[in-house]
Amino acid sequence: MSELRFRSVMEASSRKAVKVEQPKKRVDQYYGEKVFNRQKMFQYLPRPTYEALVEAIDNKKPISREVADSVAEGMKRWAIENGTTHYTHWFQPMTGGTAEKHDTFIEHDGKGGVIEKFTGKLLAQQEPDASSFPSGGIRNTFEARGYSAWDISSPAFIVGNTLCIPTIFISYTGESLDYKTPFLKALNAIDKAATKVAKYFDPKVKHVISYLGWEQEYFLVDEALYDARPDIALTGRTLMGHESAKNQQLEDHYFGSIPSRVEAFMLDLEIEAHKLGIPVKTRHNEVAPNQFELAPIYEEANLANDHNLLIMSVMNEVARRHNFRVLFHEKPFAGINGSGKHNNWSLGTDTGRQLFSPGSTPMENLEFIVFLSNVMMAVHKHNALLKASIMSATNSHRLGANEAPPAIISMFLGTGVSGLLDSIEKNDYESMSMQGKEGMKLGVNQIPEIMLDNTDRNRTSPFAFTGNRFEYRAVGSSANCASALIALNSAVAYELDDFAERVDRRIAAGESKERALFAEARENISKARPVHFDGNGYGDEWLVEAKKRGLDTEASAPLMFDAYLSDSSVNMFEKMGILSKKELIARNEVKWEMYTKKVQIESRVLGDLAINHVIPAAINYERVLLDNLYKINRLFDSEKAKEIGNADLNTVENISRHVNEVKKLVAEMIDNRRNANALEVQRDKAIAYHDRVAPLMEKIRYHIDHLELMVDNEIWPLPKYRELLFIR
Ligand code: ADP
Ligand code: MG
Repeated sequence: MSELRFRSVMEASSRKAVKVEQPKKRVDQYYGEKVFNRQKMFQYLPRPTYEALVEAIDNKKPISREVADSVAEGMKRWAIENGTTHYTHWFQPMTGGTAEKHDTFIEHDGKGGVIEKFTGKLLAQQEPDASSFPSGGIRNTFEARGYSAWDISSPAFIVGNTLCIPTIFISYTGESLDYKTPFLKALNAIDKAATKVAKYFDPKVKHVISYLGWEQEYFLVDEALYDARPDIALTGRTLMGHESAKNQQLEDHYFGSIPSRVEAFMLDLEIEAHKLGIPVKTRHNEVAPNQFELAPIYEEANLANDHNLLIMSVMNEVARRHNFRVLFHEKPFAGINGSGKHNNWSLGTDTGRQLFSPGSTPMENLEFIVFLSNVMMAVHKHNALLKASIMSATNSHRLGANEAPPAIISMFLGTGVSGLLDSIEKNDYESMSMQGKEGMKLGVNQIPEIMLDNTDRNRTSPFAFTGNRFEYRAVGSSANCASALIALNSAVAYELDDFAERVDRRIAAGESKERALFAEARENISKARPVHFDGNGYGDEWLVEAKKRGLDTEASAPLMFDAYLSDSSVNMFEKMGILSKKELIARNEVKWEMYTKKVQIESRVLGDLAINHVIPAAINYERVLLDNLYKINRLFDSEKAKEIGNADLNTVENISRHVNEVKKLVAEMIDNRRNANALEVQRDKAIAYHDRVAPLMEKIRYHIDHLELMVDNEIWPLPKYRELLFIR
């Protein structure tokens, strides 16, 4: 620790809050200034181009080459006026995060100089040399090239001196190689299916929009301390470290004021976000020390997700200006809360109706029940798939690892809605409806008030109804939300599609529309009953009960991924036109490979820390003690020496016991890694890493954390939890 101490002392001055100035007096004067939004389009594009582009965006239609050329010209003019020199197609590979390849605007002018040029072709399509992006074998078997293509529904923006163009990323043969492509398809599918159902209630509905409001949790650590912890720097989490005497017991961080250094970071971040048109609104401390949350106003899901990915990279940058590093890992520190990214998800019509809101009329309430019951069915039927969609090597430390939320996807509805569903199940249409003009009663008039009062909100549920939306809480803090929302929107679209078919069949057979809708909603409610759980999701009893109910309780991440390839998942994704079986197989290869690599890197880092950092320090201290014991024995008679040296002797014995265990376990871990690496099938390899490498890391950690308690603090080479976790 001595170099580190030195460095912290040296850095004492940089620990002061960095001064941040608001660029202009009011947010609306700089909000969106780095985005090529409609206002900029209007200003920089010829009128016919502007109209063609807006028309294409609103109706999800492609644009012509001429329009693309004209947009490119205007976009370039705007970008260059704002100091950019480069442009990039910005896409979302399956490895997570975002990727970009920068090009300058320059082209030869034919006279030995250059001109700044940007054409519709360059805007609309690129062939990034993407052979290093995983394709799960798709590209190898067909064609090495991958294409990125402009997503006109998400506006271009400027970061630094680069114009960024949000794009999809697909193979030469058209398979998705990213998150955005299937996400856009899923959003289209739910638009179509939900519109069909919403039309039963209001024929004027033309589109249903899927919304996302994410809540990004994260940790901040001091940059100097980050640099001194190879495990954090290389894996994003601590692979060792005894818990601090004080951590989150007092909950004083949650209720405490934000430290001024952090507040400066947050202000800086908010300014950058607002310039980029990201409507961040809420910031606060989270439960664990050094843990914080950032949330925007919700937006259309595709844009909201782009904004989430963008802000994660902006956060990394802004943090460094404040001598911090951001940790997005789901479980950076053992023994305290991890980080999630709650996905607040809802559906709304283009006529302004929120489909998960209980309404003020009986028909609106029936509509609410219809949509709610279809979500229940989707979550019930595709229970294992939804869990697979949020699972990763990093999120597995949070889910099912004795921490919120459990590795079981259930749905919380609250007392008000639960009671309503019970009465719908018990009663038939006649007893639920009133005579005459008033139509359906449903007994739901009181629901809006009940739902507004969130007192019975259940924090242990991975998927909770919160009044006008669902809060999908199982999503990991480092995840691309698209993964969860592709599965969710597709599954709900599939249900709504099926629901509409069933209702139409009843209507064709002569039933009234209301009666048909009621009957099929009621059918959904009783079939989906097992997924509805309002109790304590953390209790051991829930695992037993969930098994009985037939819910998916698989806890191993590599095995969870199998759910993507089950008949019901393949059938659902193919029928909805989102992902083909071939794509699903390829994507799973990537998931298993990513899982393996993450655990492999962690295991290597831990091996290095154990052998080259911890054991030498422990042996150093042991030598000090042995030296002392030797001298005691020389100076005192054996009886007295025993008495004086007893404690040191005990420590020496304990240290060597733990050191020997660490050595033995590291050797075993290396062996297991070697055996796993020899496996050819990605799935087998991931399973081997899960079953035979990851558990050894826990065991090694146990001994290291005990050594940390014994060894002289001066000798201990790494910053401890108590040093990492409290911003000074
Ligand atoms: P919490 O108590 O969970 O922190 P907040 O009121 O802070 O809840 O809201 C969390 C997120 O939910 C915000 O991003 C907010 O914009 C979003 N949100 C609110 N209403 C909706 C909705 N109808 N659809 C999607 N997201 C929503
Ligand atoms: Mg929340």
